[in-house]
This record gives sequence, structure tokens and C-alpha cells, in this order.
Amino acid sequence: MNKEARIKILQDIVKIKSVNDNEKDVADYLEKLFTANSIKSKHVAYNETRHNLVAEYSNGEGKVLGISGHEDVVAPGEESEWKFPPFSGQIDGDKLYGRGSTDMKSGLAALAIAMIELKNEETDFNGTIRFMATVGEEVGALGSTLLAEEGYADDLDGLLIGEPVDVAAYTHKGSLNYSVVSHGKSSHSSMPDEGINSITNMSKFIQRFNKEFNKVTNDYTNDVLGTVAASVTIINGGDQVNSIPATTTVQGNIRTIPEFDNTKVKELLKEIVDELNQENNVDLELKIDYDLNSVESDKDSDLAKAVLAHTNAKTGGISPVTDAAAFTQTDNQFDVVIYGPGVTTLPHQLDEYVSIEDYLSKIEEYKAIIKEYLK
Ligand SMILES: [Zn+2]
Repeated sequence: MNKEARIKILQDIVKIKSVNDNEKDVADYLEKLFTANSIKSKHVAYNETRHNLVAEYSNGEGKVLGISGHEDVVAPGEESEWKFPPFSGQIDGDKLYGRGSTDMKSGLAALAIAMIELKNEETDFNGTIRFMATVGEEVGALGSTLLAEEGYADDLDGLLIGEPVDVAAYTHKGSLNYSVVSHGKSSHSSMPDEGINSITNMSKFIQRFNKEFNKVTNDYTNDVLGTVAASVTIINGGDQVNSIPATTTVQGNIRTIPEFDNTKVKELLKEIVDELNQENNVDLELKIDYDLNSVESDKDSDLAKAVLAHTNAKTGGISPVTDAAAFTQTDNQFDVVIYGPGVTTLPHQLDEYVSIEDYLSKIEEYKAIIKEYLK
């Protein structure tokens, strides 16, 4: 494929407004591209408008390498504040602008093109490349969870995800969202004893939460990822200044590490709530809203070695959660590396762009990595 064709594909995909929906349009585009290059692909639908796409190309009975990227993007924010409209794919010098240009339509396009070119150039390798484009990565890994449930990760030997990461990341933190509701009883504020103050009871939870998770932070560290990060981030309670508040809710996010994983976090949250509920008039209700584990693959895996051999990247860890968290929920153990084009500080920002040179060079690097891993 020539340079212009490679750039046009990225531009076309950036123009598709797949803001937390409509990934089917991206899947349709990629399907057409694969079909034009005699590669079979299949839609795996999450719902009517949200489709994953899986494409495979086999050359021999060797290893199976998954290559994956997400089709969804986050909302552009105030569109008028962008230098160029966020879904224009406008090019200015070496920069291609647009929501998703960095996170991660450049990675997605580069992986698809690498696979197509390896086929068209009749590159000699032994194994299967399985391209997986996913939906809803930004809102809880909806697509990768579905693909994992349907068995697409069961025979993988390796998984390369093209998120905008400039290290060969083999590990990342997990993420868990929780909410707690404090149920009380309203009364007039002149007679507080007639009611049950849900804010007072919630403050007990918050104090206990902070104390317990401070201890976790002190006691558990991962050499690469650091410590657990636990916060209360939303609080709502009370509705009238002269009424004892009947209901208070909090929500929060916890970033986990393998040494203190999501299971342990859930146990600790339950323990705090159960203990406080022993007290008179305390009625707390815990809910887990989002639950993705950390990822820890072999730092010296064949896939990590292949990435190091053909790029300037070093191995490392990252904080954000990726689709790897869902793909690795199966019993099958496989190598994971996250590495791809883009400006690592730009995801979810105004004026998101990708360097065209970076994008084009990642296509070459992906081809070399895939060829090496499936040699
Ligand atoms: Zn992303």
C-alpha cells in the first residue's frame, strides 16, 4: 500500500463518529477493506449499532497472535474549541487531527494495514493473525468481554494491542468502581432523634474507607505499577436544609495491582460495610459497578522480545486499563504487549492528533513484530 492509501484509511476512520456507539460503521469500513484484500472477516455484534469485527489470516499451523484495537472514542467536548472539527481528520503538516486519532484509530488502522500488507506481500510466516476490533473499550471493555466469552482468546499465544503507549507494556493496573448507599430516615431538623442521619453514617464509611485503604497503600507495592489508588469521587446527600437526610450515596474508583487485586478490594469493601452495619441505625448498601482486573504478563515473553527487537521501546507498565483486562479473563495464559502510535499525553484531550510519521512507522514495526513472532 502506498503512503497516501495508508493515510486515507486512517482519515476515513477518524471521520466516523463512533462516540461510545456506532462502532458498526467502523466495522463495516474495515470489513470492506479486508474483503477488497481477500481477507475474511466477521461481525460479532454487541447490539444493533455496536459491532466488533474479527478478521483472520492463516499461513501454517504455528502460533496464534491476536492484534487488537478499539473502535470507540470518547466525546469530543466543546467542538468549537477544537482547532479543526474533531471528526474532520484534518491534516496540518505532519499532524492528523481528530477525536480518536491518537486513542486509538491510528493503532487500529496500523494493525489492519500491517495484516493486509503481510498477506499481499506473501510474507513467509507460520501461524495465524487474528485481528479484533472492539466496541465500548472506554466504558468497560464491552466488546473484548464479549469476544472473550465467545472464545476468541482461548487459543491465543500472544496479544498485541495498539493503544498509544510508547513502552512495550506487559502489565497494567486494574480498575473497580463501587457505590455505597446510606439508608436513613428523614425527620425535621429540630428533632434529629426522630430520624436517622444518612450523612453521619456515610461519613463513618468514608473515614473507615480512607483508613483501610491507606493501610493497603502502605502494605502492598508492585515494582512496576506502584501502589493501589483508592478514592471517593462523588457524594450526594440531603435535600433540604431543615430536614435530616434520609439517603446519601457515594461513588468511587479504585486502581488495583496484582498484589492487592479486585477480589481483595471487594472483600475489604464488604468487610467495612458489614462491620459498620452492625452498629445501631447504620444501613449501608454496597454495589460494584465496574470490575476489570489488572494485567500481568511475562516481561520476557517471545512477544515482548519481538517488540524490543524491532522498535526503540523498552518494557514497562502503564496505568490505564485496556481490553487486555477482559481478554485475559480466560483460563488460557498468553503473552500480552500494549504498544502503538499516538501522543501518550493526548488521549481524551482537545486537539487530539497523531504524527503521520509515527503512524506510518508503526505499520512497518507491526509487520516486523508479527513476522518475527510467527516465524
Ligand atoms: Zn484507548
